[in-house]
Amino acid sequence: AMPNSGEQQGRDAPAPPHLVFVPSAGMGHLLPFTRFIADLANENVEISVVTALPTVSAAEAAHFADLFAAFPRIRRIDFNLLPFDESAFPGADPFLLRWESLRRSAQLLGPLIAAAVPRASAVVTDVTLASQVIPIAKDELNLPCHILFISCATMLSLVAYFPVYLDGAKADHLVGDVDIPGVLRLPVSSPPQVLRNPDSLFTKQFIANGRTIAKSDGILVNTFRALEPEALSALNSGKVVPGFPPVYAVGPLKSSITMTTSTGSSDKDEGAAAGGSPMAWLGEQPAGSVVYVAFGNRHGVSLEQIREIAAGLEASGCGFLWVLKTTVVDREDTAELEDVLGRGFLGRVTGRGLVTKEWVDQEAVLQHPAVGLYLSHAGWNSVTESAAYGVPMLVWPTAGDQRVIATVVASAGFGLWMEHWDWESLVSGAEIGEKVKEVMGNEGIKARAAKVSEEAAKAVAEGGSSHRSMQEFLAKLKPST
Ligand code: UDP
Ligand code: UDP
Repeated sequence: AMPNSGEQQGRDAPAPPHLVFVPSAGMGHLLPFTRFIADLANENVEISVVTALPTVSAAEAAHFADLFAAFPRIRRIDFNLLPFDESAFPGADPFLLRWESLRRSAQLLGPLIAAAVPRASAVVTDVTLASQVIPIAKDELNLPCHILFISCATMLSLVAYFPVYLDGAKADHLVGDVDIPGVLRLPVSSPPQVLRNPDSLFTKQFIANGRTIAKSDGILVNTFRALEPEALSALNSGKVVPGFPPVYAVGPLKSSITMTTSTGSSDKDEGAAAGGSPMAWLGEQPAGSVVYVAFGNRHGVSLEQIREIAAGLEASGCGFLWVLKTTVVDREDTAELEDVLGRGFLGRVTGRGLVTKEWVDQEAVLQHPAVGLYLSHAGWNSVTESAAYGVPMLVWPTAGDQRVIATVVASAGFGLWMEHWDWESLVSGAEIGEKVKEVMGNEGIKARAAKVSEEAAKAVAEGGSSHRSMQEFLAKLKPST
């Protein structure tokens, strides 16, 4: 735990560094921040977290509450956002709108961080806020500013290189393949497809942030050397962008605290899931027999596709645990399982399958010996969790950075990427069932997953590559003055 200030540190010892975290919105962004913060809680550092309430999703609100309850010494700095007229962006993704709102309120951060006690010694922020927060930290407050990057190093290389690519192509949007020096040539279909539209809010943010991260003092990435050796070397040797700041691979980050999120405590999901609590149910299944199915927090699956997935799982003959989402924002998901899945489905799969609309502790699920495969959207947090616990993957990217991430899964060999499965056209239940069966029986992928999990454990153990990167990052921090 964190030291109790004064008396334990001897009279002349310098005050510990004080890190101020400025996270962004969406569980995929928030989780790596809280995991990193929980890791640091064992080190001699003071921590504050800038918190914009209310959050977009219920899961984020519960997660913040858990963090502050688990670590009472972590300070919360309330960030009251400026009024922001969302109606100017009809139909836009609510999380993207929150990023924009955080960015437009960023000028308020200077005084908030300046008022922190003890005095802040460094800022750590999310890539979505980089172009706003870096100048405030560095120019206004004279503090070092780091990015905690929430996707893979390969994606970071794209973010960093994209402005150079645009200048070379004399374009203001994605117009062709992106050949990232020292990393790989990404086909035009791989980067977030919204980058084809120069007028989208996402594209504007992405380019502004990409141009500015080179001015940060360092970038922490939730990955490890054995998983992305080329991308990490290319970034750190200046091949991607000359003079790029140091990139610290510190992953895979894990939860060192149990999150009892009000949406996900194990006794609350009783009943909300058809068939009981997921963990209790998993306990009754044979080792390696269950397919875990989840597509992250950002994606509501269409009714038609849900029915095909259901048919596929039924046809596969495998056990399954399926976290089902029909809307982008969890608070809006009021659909009834029975209506969504079609009458009779739940009855037919009783005992063999469990479907839930509740938040599950995915890390606990992936660690469970009953789970033999993860059918996933290839969100980076999910991929690092699957890698850490040695669970083979079948990946079906939805959007955003997920096709770039899928290339990492495929090249590391612990999963199969169905490149022609997209979410615009319907993937049939028959095909889903076939592929699930196929990967469940694939010994090569299983062996690779076990190996990757060993490498992950080595990376974070004392003396491992991620452990050393973390120590290097900490050693650079200045004491609070
Ligand atoms: N997650 C979870 N329980 C759920 C749904 C998601 O614990 O019911 C976690 C999951 O373990 C992962 C994160 O939420 O850590 C999702 O992040 P990811 O980057 O995989 O995808 P995103 O949601 O950003 O698309
Ligand atoms: N991203 C970025 N700069 C931005 C906004 C996003 O580099 O200004 C990255 C982000 O880290 C992620 C991807 O682009 O890797 C966005 O993916 P997506 O649209 O799926 O949203 P997310 O899952 O991050 O919420």
